Amino acid sequence: VNRTPSFRRFKLPFRCPTTRAMASQSHIVGYPRIGPKRELKFALESFWDGKTSADELQAVAAGIRSSIWKQLAGAGIKYIPSNTFSYYDQMLDTTAMLGAVPPRYGWQRDEVGFETYFSMARGNADVPAMEMTKWFDTNYHYIVPELGPHMRFSYASHKAVDEFKEAKALGVDTVPVLIGPVSYLLLSKPARGIEQCFSPLSLIGYIVPVYKEVVAELKAAGAKWVQFDEPTLVWDLDAEQLQAFTHAYSELESSLSGLNVLIETYFADVTADNYRTLTSLKGVTGYGFDLVRGAKTLELIKDGFPSGKQLFAGVVDGRNIWANDLASSLGTLQDLEDIVGKDKIVVSTSCSLLHTAVDLVNETKLDKDIKSWLAFAAQKVDEVNALANALSGQKDEALFSANAAAQASRKSSPMVMNEAVQKAAAALNGSEQRRGTDVGGRLDTQRKKLNLPILPTTTIGSFPQTMDIRRVRREYKDKKLSLEDYVNAIKEEINKVVKLQEELDIDVLVHGEPERNDMVEYFGEQLSGFAFTSNGWVQSYGSRYVKPPIIYGDVSRPKPMTVFWSSLAQGMTKKPMKGMLTGPVTIMNWSFVRNDQPRFETCYQIALAMKDEVQDLEKAGITVIQIDEPALREGLPLRKAEQAFYLDWAVRSFRITNCTVQDTTQIHTHMCYSNFNDIIHSIIDMDADVVTIENSKSDEKLLSVLPEGVQFGSGIGPGVYDVHSPRIPSDKEIRDKIKNIVKVLENNNVWVNPDCGLKTRKYSEVRPALSNMVAAAKYNREML
Ligand code: GLN
Ligand code: ZN
Repeated sequence: VNRTPSFRRFKLPFRCPTTRAMASQSHIVGYPRIGPKRELKFALESFWDGKTSADELQAVAAGIRSSIWKQLAGAGIKYIPSNTFSYYDQMLDTTAMLGAVPPRYGWQRDEVGFETYFSMARGNADVPAMEMTKWFDTNYHYIVPELGPHMRFSYASHKAVDEFKEAKALGVDTVPVLIGPVSYLLLSKPARGIEQCFSPLSLIGYIVPVYKEVVAELKAAGAKWVQFDEPTLVWDLDAEQLQAFTHAYSELESSLSGLNVLIETYFADVTADNYRTLTSLKGVTGYGFDLVRGAKTLELIKDGFPSGKQLFAGVVDGRNIWANDLASSLGTLQDLEDIVGKDKIVVSTSCSLLHTAVDLVNETKLDKDIKSWLAFAAQKVDEVNALANALSGQKDEALFSANAAAQASRKSSPMVMNEAVQKAAAALNGSEQRRGTDVGGRLDTQRKKLNLPILPTTTIGSFPQTMDIRRVRREYKDKKLSLEDYVNAIKEEINKVVKLQEELDIDVLVHGEPERNDMVEYFGEQLSGFAFTSNGWVQSYGSRYVKPPIIYGDVSRPKPMTVFWSSLAQGMTKKPMKGMLTGPVTIMNWSFVRNDQPRFETCYQIALAMKDEVQDLEKAGITVIQIDEPALREGLPLRKAEQAFYLDWAVRSFRITNCTVQDTTQIHTHMCYSNFNDIIHSIIDMDADVVTIENSKSDEKLLSVLPEGVQFGSGIGPGVYDVHSPRIPSDKEIRDKIKNIVKVLENNNVWVNPDCGLKTRKYSEVRPALSNMVAAAKYNREML
């Protein structure tokens, strides 16, 4: 059979079981909960649809958990996590554990069950869901706890204990994992209305007693370890926040006695101050560090590590899909061992494996060489174990040499290396990559050429993706539809979208993106250097998963990607038709990125490929080109000191794509999914002619924080209605929105558009919504 050189092939039958049990100092921070074939998603969605019962959902969940525990135990892992499973989100689980349910859900203070739990996660008929936000700098989203001074905490979900017992009944002794009390509060927000005057951290004294109850019950159930995840220790924390750690763990100390306690950090190194606080916490047995992203962790440990404590060394990357360089990791581990002492090192993952794909075994279509360079969660478990064995003197030579061979093949593969691309990227040489004329001058030129009214209307790109369109794409992919029939079907759809926009009297049109399934995949499939998996899903939130492409090699564009469709669409109308591209930063941030060169180099390469596309669109007579960068903010490093560098190269990458176009070519960009208030200067520095930006939910917040004296020189289109809701905004409502926007912006560069693409909406919603939007713009034109 066509299986990868998975480490499982080299399992441990040759070794004496007694020494192995002693030896393998191995630990996994957390494991993906979605199942190797998205079993949890399908079980959840069918339960939510009322098609299956709660029992059936629970049975699927129990099956996933038990197979993970057995797999980890079978692989030889010593410290196996429990309670890293979740029906929706681990922060929400903690909210349930603490009984911190916001009053609007009408919870009766009994054990938090599915109804309350899923109402908080997804809303119900009467009450909307709680807010969701990004988990550090990952693409995972957690449900943000809402806390106020009157929140009454109580032990209201016994999930951590139940799962510990469940594993024990299966014969697996696990380390129950809890989100630590301080990180829980630091990741919370004040309840509505008291944002200005309340700090959730002030509740520390009220939640610690609940943690004590949980710990006591875990002890009674036979737990020998407990793991507290305190990832906020990688932030820049102030003295008061650090004090909270000291306080909380002193309070917990007596309850923790008799238990081994691991404090786990991840996603970056901890600052020197945080390290000092962390390593002096009371009652702690071991500390977990991210040695992949934590560039300075090694130095911190060299400067002093508390004697007698254990170091959980996260050398296997939980954020990526690359096979570990085992020889190099073993070197690091041995260096660490020299510092902290023999038997004090536990080999671990850099963070929970939640952020990587589940199992490479299910990838039967991937190129054989590429596959040999990869490790998903299941393979990473074997890597951790192999390293732990090697560290204790039981190195599996066959496995290490197979790994070294794969590493070498990746380094020298012609699939990875493209000299022309590397030269072109090197030639950028730190230059600014800016358009010659400033934005004011360009806009004047463009105004004459495009001849648009004030408050011009446009949309963000996609139109509803009907069942028909999805079927056409699928059938073409499965070769059930000929190229000719496919092109005709798409052409017809574009024509429909163009006609609709003309009828609605929108000023700058789009083709509707019917040929695209996903804004990154569409380009990745046409660029060199990208590979795609069949089952490489990663949880984004709840039952929503993404399947990021893998960037394995130098990126280039063999041929034009969008010119055919854009010219075809432009040919259908006299109005300007926007060319529609995804920007380099977004393509990169939504992919698994190669780890053998700095991220900015990969980003510059993608930018150069997109630049070729921009130039070809311009040549084909497309005068307005939108380059979407919704994920620009996502790559922002967690530590303030590193942010300026990232923003500099990310913004430059965007400019690379379009710095050579003529003044008359109007470059748009679009941003969404987050608050952009804190990177407003970088958005201005992108030097686009028009920026459309998600805004309708944050009201005019974005605009009101424009720093004194800062003006958007470019055109700006703050979204006037929310596309994520089926609600149709009224003409009056949009009129008022526009009025407010114009008041704040005080310039005549305001554009009128929805928040984002219309892909997930129905035509019955889009048509009246856009019609109201155009009417509202026209009304305001008269009034201005
Ligand atoms: N042009 C894309 C669309 O309209 C933009 C999507 C996005 O911003 N996420 O679908
Ligand atoms: Zn968007």
